[in-house]
Amino acid sequence: MLIIKLIFTIFLLTIPQVSLANTDIISFRTADKKDFSRFVLDISTNPQYEIFVLQDPMRVVIDLKDTKWNNSAVPHSSTKRIKAVRYAEKNGRDLRIVLDINQPVSLKKIFVLQPDGNNPHRLVIDMQPDNELIDIAGIPSPTSRKGMDIAAPKPKLKTPRKPLIVIDAGHGGHDPGSIGRKKTKEKNITLKYAKALKRELLKTGKYKVHLTRSTDKYIKLRQRVNIARRVKGDLFVSVHADSHRNKRVRGLSVYTLSENASDKEAAALAAKENKSDIINGVDLGMQISEVSALLIDMVQRDTKNVSSSFAETLVKNLKKKTKLLRNPHRFAGFRVLTGADIPSVLVELGYLSNRKEEKLLNSKKHKNKLAKAVARAIDSHFKKYKIE
Ligand code: ZN
Repeated sequence: MLIIKLIFTIFLLTIPQVSLANTDIISFRTADKKDFSRFVLDISTNPQYEIFVLQDPMRVVIDLKDTKWNNSAVPHSSTKRIKAVRYAEKNGRDLRIVLDINQPVSLKKIFVLQPDGNNPHRLVIDMQPDNELIDIAGIPSPTSRKGMDIAAPKPKLKTPRKPLIVIDAGHGGHDPGSIGRKKTKEKNITLKYAKALKRELLKTGKYKVHLTRSTDKYIKLRQRVNIARRVKGDLFVSVHADSHRNKRVRGLSVYTLSENASDKEAAALAAKENKSDIINGVDLGMQISEVSALLIDMVQRDTKNVSSSFAETLVKNLKKKTKLLRNPHRFAGFRVLTGADIPSVLVELGYLSNRKEEKLLNSKKHKNKLAKAVARAIDSHFKKYKIE
């Protein structure tokens, strides 16, 4: 299933480099040892990297800043455990290397060797197959002591896990979001609806819920994604309300991530929502382009499909309850939806610029009705996509 079993991230801060020249991947090696596999990158300078493990399919992702892949190193599939090595450029500046792994692994050791003799910098990643974890603890199993085959560890008794829904109330703090004709602030609407949805979900007893914010505070888009990842959410629902120059426009819509917006309006909306971070005076240029082909393609074709499927389920459930925008399921490059390993949707509850809808969005009855409908959609979603 599409759950990250383990995210293990390491940031290495390197001494600032004087030159802004790209780091080069010169070559790489892979090897299977008895109880771990090793991946070594030969690199021209000290690397700045981030490494994590994703499941379904199992892969190890290595993100390198300001790095390019030297053409002389041909990516190829190599060992029994490392099925394939592939790479792609990110933002025209960074590099992502993906190792497709044949069996569940954990990151055991990551280190950088400084240049010596003929060797350049080397980034070394050791991966431990999960079924050999017993060796990590340094406790040899009784069977292995006798020189017999190491018995497979007993499967852990699994109690069914409750899906964790991460609800993200858009905007907050100094960022009010859209403002209605009667001065309703989007940030307050999103928080109220997020809390209502939380209540509905908890009532069922079937879910755990995490809110990215439960007070009127500002959170960067990037941080919202990181929160969802950190708590290992199974579904991410970002709640917003829109405004439009045309005061007659109204209706709810659901968005999923795509590099190409489904129409101009969707693109404009994504640009508007993404701007939230710039308001804070921080230009996250690089993150903006992270809503890019690479992130979407390499990491999560599957998740995108699941997100889309959930968006359709949502639309089906909400259609009976409220007025929807034309083509209610749309696609656009929302930065807040880039938690690519978690199925994610963004719900625009309606238009605060429409007098009627502003009033409706402020009504408790409408709020509870929508929260119930979304909760029901989440129910049908998890009937279809069982979590592990
Ligand atoms: Zn918004």
